Amino acid sequence: MPNKEPISSSGTILSGMRPTGQLHLGNYFGALQNWVDLQDSYKCIYTIVDIHALTTIETPEDIANIRPNIYEMALDWLAAGIDPNLSTIFIQSHIPEVMTLNTLLSMVTPLGWLMRVPTFKEKVRQMEHTEESVNYGLVGYPILQTADIILYKADTVPVGQDQLPHLELAREIVRRFNSRFGETFPEPQAKLTKVPLIVGLDGQQKMSKSLDNHIDLASTEEVTTKRILTAFTDPQRTTRDTPGRPNVCNVYSLHNIFTNESDLTTINQECTSANRGCVDCKRQLAQNLNSYLGPMRERRNDLSKRPDDIKDILSEGAKTARQLAQATIEEVYDKMGLS
Ligand code: AMP
Repeated sequence: MPNKEPISSSGTILSGMRPTGQLHLGNYFGALQNWVDLQDSYKCIYTIVDIHALTTIETPEDIANIRPNIYEMALDWLAAGIDPNLSTIFIQSHIPEVMTLNTLLSMVTPLGWLMRVPTFKEKVRQMEHTEESVNYGLVGYPILQTADIILYKADTVPVGQDQLPHLELAREIVRRFNSRFGETFPEPQAKLTKVPLIVGLDGQQKMSKSLDNHIDLASTEEVTTKRILTAFTDPQRTTRDTPGRPNVCNVYSLHNIFTNESDLTTINQECTSANRGCVDCKRQLAQNLNSYLGPMRERRNDLSKRPDDIKDILSEGAKTARQLAQATIEEVYDKMGLS
């Protein structure tokens, strides 16, 4: 690990991810890359939210996957450049105080607020449940999210436009708590990040593991190339002689990220004049993507040989986080008249 000095910061950032195992390109460009950059100017706290994962877990297989998924995710974070000398990284459930705060915040959160959250209705539908049959933890998801943020008195949360309603709810909970029990928590501010949408290999939907249209950061070069060769391109380009339309082709939009300007111009010209086939285009993309991910994969490989170091990093992170958490809970108990 590079031994960098922590940077004097402009605020405290909190962000988390559910342990879904190995991360894909969408996770990297939509979140992780930004987390790495934020380390230069903020005090950053990043947490693997395993309790949140339990809100939608139903099968024994899902449960058996939580631990390995946490490990795989931590490896990806570190390989991508999350630096434990700059950021605090830990597993949510290692800080039991978050569950205490979750319960206490639930005393100031009307059920109506929770049920209005757009993602709640969406999750109920996805899980093929009704609002009555879904578990109580799922309804309370935003309270736990708020507890995650304010337990460490974080004041800044990086979010995409679509997540603004969640943060607004966190701010409402904080306002209500502060007005009832006295000024305790900063109102967390959204740090709007332009989350680029990475489209999956199907060329249509958001890249996602559950749709099996993803490319894992940690895949081998061979698997990456094989998967890219299955990618959908311009649906109107049915033969090699038909000119392609780069502006509707997801392979081209991926080239935009991984390929240099002059090659991009060539690809565009050769595609629109039918002088290049999609297979060549995909092979070139695979090559560029593999070069881009190469250093990350090497770091990951190296780290994976030292599983005890990963455990140590997460446990050191939990120690730091727990100190902050205990101080907050002490203050909250006092303000709420508990002893
Ligand atoms: P998830 O595990 O799907 O909740 O994703 C974790 C993070 O990655 C969130 O911040 C998402 O917004 C981001 N993310 C996931 N998939 C994509 C995608 N296809 N394009 C952009 N960002 C994504």
